Amino acid sequence: MKSLMIIADGLGGRPGDVDGRTCLQVAETPEIDDLLSRRGSAGLMDPIKPGIRPGSDTAHLSLFGYDPYKYYTGRGVFEAAGIGMEVTENDVCFRTNFATLDSDGKISDRRAGRISEGQDELEKALSDLKSKKYPEVEVRFKRSTEHRGALCFAGPDLGGNVTPTDPHELGIRMPKAKGRDEKSERTADILNEVTDEASEILQNHPLNMERKEMGKLPANAIMARGAATYPDLPLVKERYGISASVVAAGALYIGVARIIGMEFKQAEGATGTVDSNILNKVKLALKQLEKGQDLVFLHFKGTDNASHDHDAEGKINFIEKIDRTFGWLNDNVDWDRTHLSFAGDHTTPIKYGGHVADPVPAMLAGPNVRKDRVEVFDEFSCANGGLGRFSGNLLPITLGYSNQLKKFGA
Ligand code: ZN
Ligand code: ZN
Repeated sequence: MKSLMIIADGLGGRPGDVDGRTCLQVAETPEIDDLLSRRGSAGLMDPIKPGIRPGSDTAHLSLFGYDPYKYYTGRGVFEAAGIGMEVTENDVCFRTNFATLDSDGKISDRRAGRISEGQDELEKALSDLKSKKYPEVEVRFKRSTEHRGALCFAGPDLGGNVTPTDPHELGIRMPKAKGRDEKSERTADILNEVTDEASEILQNHPLNMERKEMGKLPANAIMARGAATYPDLPLVKERYGISASVVAAGALYIGVARIIGMEFKQAEGATGTVDSNILNKVKLALKQLEKGQDLVFLHFKGTDNASHDHDAEGKINFIEKIDRTFGWLNDNVDWDRTHLSFAGDHTTPIKYGGHVADPVPAMLAGPNVRKDRVEVFDEFSCANGGLGRFSGNLLPITLGYSNQLKKFGA
């Protein structure tokens, strides 16, 4: 049998979203409801456990069946892996921003005016970054979308307990990184050295001269945060004995999935925003199952983006867009041999605009599921479902129904 696990990021909401109802309640979701009432069972899921406000990275680890309290080392390494950098146990990685410093060296924009072109040239200009103090450490920088990127150091005796150089504030100088233990002090040293070197290169880069002439903010600094060593995670192959692919567009999700050994598949037109071509993603996911993968993890990001932007209409529209892809799934999944799970990775209410600890609606559908009486997929109806309330582990739960799970004990 096959398993398809679908996550809509930040799917969960609160009654305050739209006049006493959640976005999921307001959205028209005939296809999801149809699947649930014909083949499924519903429940509420605490992404990590009750009373824990999840980050997307820790939530996904937990959904994949990996205790984030045991395995989580920080976000940087997932970001780096997610944008295609090869990371190993020798690496310490950071997420970075191109930023703008004014003539006094103070931060005037944390995103360099959301720079949208020329980042490849800047990345190239930074390709020889090196620590003079620790020449044995390899330094790599890679840009991703807009101002985003990642910075990795590979070498002996590095630590991930390093404070950020991005203060999330304007009008002040970039703080120096500090390490909280000996290895991390060394790493902070390297980060400070490399940060200065990068600023020097970027200050005088022709692209930034050009940007200034055009009245745009120069990308004349890199700020780093989310320091992380490589997490010691067993691969899905070892842990569950399965092969798996990830179809996603957001770097973080691709990164978490890649690090546990899922093969990344790029769908055409997938953007990780509300305008993404998500039908292409769904089609690619199914194709991966047909090609022989045991499990595919499919991730949609738009629901969380709209929630952070306090955009109820945007979230409702994106949920309805997801629903239309379920129409295609309903018609095309081999329902004799496939189990599908669908949930959020956390609740992101419209008014609050950030992640909260409230549980998320979840459903499972397929031939071995004990169908319950829930016919509508939302935060309220799912509370009456046959799955009850559970914490994380959606991936192994899905595998369980598909008879893909190893036995614990004899
Ligand atoms: Zn998330
Ligand atoms: Zn979020």
